[in-house]
Amino acid sequence: MRIIIQKFGGTSVATKSSRSLIVNKILKAKEKGFLPVVVVSAMGRKGESYATDTLIELVKRENPEVKERELDQIMCCGEMISAVVMAAVLQANGLDAVMLTGGQAGIITDSNFNSARIHDINTESILDLLTKDKVPVVCGFQGVNSNGDFTTFGRGGSDTTASALGVALGAEMIEIYTDVDGIMTADPRLVSDAKILDKINYSEICQIAHQGAKVIHPRAVEIAMQKNIPMMIKSTFSEAEGTLIGNFTDEASNSNKVFDKVATSVTYLTDICQIKMFNLDDHASVNVFKLLAAEGISVDLINVSPGQLMFTIAQSFMHCVQRKFESLGYKVEFVLDCAKVSVVGGGMREVPGVMANFIEALSDNKIEILQTVDSHTSISCLVEKKHLKKSLEALHEKFHLAT
Ligand code: ASP
Ligand code: MG
Repeated sequence: MRIIIQKFGGTSVATKSSRSLIVNKILKAKEKGFLPVVVVSAMGRKGESYATDTLIELVKRENPEVKERELDQIMCCGEMISAVVMAAVLQANGLDAVMLTGGQAGIITDSNFNSARIHDINTESILDLLTKDKVPVVCGFQGVNSNGDFTTFGRGGSDTTASALGVALGAEMIEIYTDVDGIMTADPRLVSDAKILDKINYSEICQIAHQGAKVIHPRAVEIAMQKNIPMMIKSTFSEAEGTLIGNFTDEASNSNKVFDKVATSVTYLTDICQIKMFNLDDHASVNVFKLLAAEGISVDLINVSPGQLMFTIAQSFMHCVQRKFESLGYKVEFVLDCAKVSVVGGGMREVPGVMANFIEALSDNKIEILQTVDSHTSISCLVEKKHLKKSLEALHEKFHLAT
């Protein structure tokens, strides 16, 4: 069986005309001899009638503290509406489509409502449909726990459904359809000469997604990577080739082709607040991180040195943190409105001079670096948000990403 997963995001399923484009993508896959398994997100974006945010708002208007179990039961409805509509459209076009909830598709999760983890996938019902030449249309973002309650995977979780089904069914390819032509070297709204990448490694796209790019959920990539299933990021709205995600380092080591690029893309995160703390004893340092963990606040860009701490949090938590720390008498300094800018590239591993180029690009443009952090495949720095566009442009140029 040549199975292909075709996942369509919120904007792709949003309108009658976009849904007819989806029909063409599915028919094309069938023409090529694939058996498609369709996965859908909820229809539209924030503000639209059946979007996930709209459903959350509906309940939270009644009770902002509504329990996570109840929230999950309504959050699942967006994908159910979308999958029924899409199945109806496919049926109208002569395809024998069958709508499946996550549970009906065999996706079993733990009971961690709002951020459930998949325990098992029973592929029997999907395989049965495929052998009868039917087209399963599966609700993304959801599963079912052992009590039969609906659970969701966390925002953006429909990509995870696609990858998990891809792995469980041994799919040949996982296609993620969205409203952009592929993964780009930078956000084109900020960097005018950003270009589409024709391929990218799993590890690079994971980094890019973690560092702010919204095009695919990193968890989905991590799942597909376990079985080396290639993923394709494509647009529903064009015929562009898209970006292929795979493991090209293996390919490189088996051929004489030289992969000589240090960097693949520049990316960013905003709404970040930097926190600096001074004159702390060891006990206080431990306490700071314990307090943040207890509040469910994640920290990034962590720098610990004798008597001092420096780290970042999402700016929305700033007041809560300020109240807590000041009541304990800690000396705290906040730097608001920061952005984290990252250069990502599998090719920078053990290459000397990457940091020098990074710093030079910013200092040539008189952009002050507030903090840096690096890994084998990325360098990130914190800058004031007013310097975001200039920083991205400077790094994009310095690392020759447009060429
Ligand atoms: N509809 C869900 C969300 O908005 C899942 C997804 O679209 O991937 O987070
Ligand atoms: Mg998404």
